[in-house]
Amino acid sequence: MARLTSAEGEVLLDEFRRYLRDHGQPVTRPRDRVARVVLRSDEHLSVEQIHQQLVQQGEAVGLATIYRTLELLEKSGLVRAHDFGQGFRRFEPNPGQGSHYHLICLRCGRVEEFQHERLERMLPIIADEHGYEAERHRLELYGTCRDCRRRAFG
Ligand SMILES: [Zn+2]
Ligand SMILES: [Zn+2]
Repeated sequence: MARLTSAEGEVLLDEFRRYLRDHGQPVTRPRDRVARVVLRSDEHLSVEQIHQQLVQQGEAVGLATIYRTLELLEKSGLVRAHDFGQGFRRFEPNPGQGSHYHLICLRCGRVEEFQHERLERMLPIIADEHGYEAERHRLELYGTCRDCRRRAFG
């Protein structure tokens, strides 16, 4: 989720610590570090990218701990996981307000976000037309990004 302020990131981090305590899970430094990287990011990070950032910060956190922490973050609802068909998952903070959609470049793997109010309003109407009550939705557009198109045709 882009445009998340660091204060918002801190709030999510506090919520995660509370979630761990409420569920009898120890709040360890490695878990805290992993959560901090994901919850303060404005990107859609892969496990590899999370691991790299931790290494850059001088934090030795094993992959098993990263996976386990991501699992807990997902369960807490504070993080959303995505499978964009790239062979691995990507994670982003979930502030629980205002949904957004994704554009995924099939060439370079870049993930961009967009919002669309009119589309948002249409979805429950479409559901209703089919006799559904809409609960959640997911929209992903796959294609070639601006930069890759420029490279191909420039
Ligand atoms: Zn996103
Ligand atoms: Zn691209």
